Amino acid sequence: MKPTMTQVQTRPAAELLVAEPSPKQDLWDTVVGTLDEAAARLNLDPGIHAILREPERELIVSVPVVHDDGSIRVYKGYRVQHSSARGPCKGGIRYHPDVNLNEVKALAAMMTWKCAVVGIPYGGAKGGIQVDPTGMSQREIERMTRRFTAMILPILGPKRDIPAPDVNTNPQVMAWIADTVSMLGGAAIPEIVTGKPINMGGSRGRKEATGRGGAIVTGELLKQMGRALTETSVAVQGYGNVGSYAARILRSMGCKIVAVSDVSGGLYNPHGLDLDAIDRAVADHPKRLLAGYTAGDVDRINNEELLTCDVDVLIPAALEHQIRADNADRIRARYIVEGANGPTTREADAILESRGVVVVPDILANAGGVVVSYLEWVQDLQNFFWEEEEVNQQLSNIMVRSFREVWGYAEAQEVPMRLGALMLAVDKVAEAVRSRGIWP
Ligand code: GLU
Repeated sequence: MKPTMTQVQTRPAAELLVAEPSPKQDLWDTVVGTLDEAAARLNLDPGIHAILREPERELIVSVPVVHDDGSIRVYKGYRVQHSSARGPCKGGIRYHPDVNLNEVKALAAMMTWKCAVVGIPYGGAKGGIQVDPTGMSQREIERMTRRFTAMILPILGPKRDIPAPDVNTNPQVMAWIADTVSMLGGAAIPEIVTGKPINMGGSRGRKEATGRGGAIVTGELLKQMGRALTETSVAVQGYGNVGSYAARILRSMGCKIVAVSDVSGGLYNPHGLDLDAIDRAVADHPKRLLAGYTAGDVDRINNEELLTCDVDVLIPAALEHQIRADNADRIRARYIVEGANGPTTREADAILESRGVVVVPDILANAGGVVVSYLEWVQDLQNFFWEEEEVNQQLSNIMVRSFREVWGYAEAQEVPMRLGALMLAVDKVAEAVRSRGIWP
């Protein structure tokens, strides 16, 4: 039961959990650095370049949460809208201790490029709360989500900015967001958010969409390389919503999944992992972790060993900056498909390129999620819902078309896929800015 105000005990100020920004290498520097490179290659108008170098809007909010023990803790929350040139802003919300303004700005910009590269009519946004939700109760997460939603609501809207799941958020969190907005608005407004449960306006196929999109582009890449799926081994870092579905779908396409990992460590079997048994163990673990798998048919490896294990395809599907200058030269995979946002630093990218490793960049490889978010939003707006086959077919059409577009463009420009995808995206956004003009 929610405590009344008289029951609330306030913690001493020194204990308030408002952490310092993470000292990690800055994702925003990576994003601006690659944008500058693309702008130079495109000969982009300096004024438009300057517009794209800064987000349109940055909102920082303070989110007080009454915890189950009655104490109040205050968390920092963010919503950043990078660009609305091509349509309403779109992007996920993450709950993670490392969330900070620069990270959210970077992820918002990447959403702008992602939506442009796959040709869906959105700009880019991102949000998050600097919090470790793993030890929190569902009631605490619900209260935090509802308060955060109310705090950022002034800049949200189905035609303004539409959130979605990201790291440590899920359909239930989206349901609380939609319910909060609907309750405050006095009307059903499910189209305010995507990635909702199917029973309240979500789309069939959304949950698997990011992993499915990653699997589809992996299939296209291997086709380009003349490689058989059945002779391809895969390692997946991150066994959450992206990595676990990518692994399962690639296995159903014929690939051998030899290694997977999450925060609790990794599992390796060169003959292929028993994903069904692993999924059952993960479902039974209180924190849904691979640590729950205790069978003896695998070697236990750490995340570093996963990244450098002997496979054809590596799918980093965890957090940013996992592939860095200090491990890029030890990566043995010939192909990298970026399931996560920003998993590779710029230094590591240069090392991989010099070693001939082909990288399918995040803004293409993990776009399947936002593509089906778009399909969900379309279904919500017309109040007419499609069968899963229809959703999957549309997703496949968009991913295959986008992969081929990026592949052809990168080849013609003689640049790696990452730069090619970004140049294509920046060019499309710049065109929209030019068409609209600078208001007033
Ligand atoms: N969080 C996902 C991403 O980074 C999905 C965003 C969305 O569907 O709006 O692409």
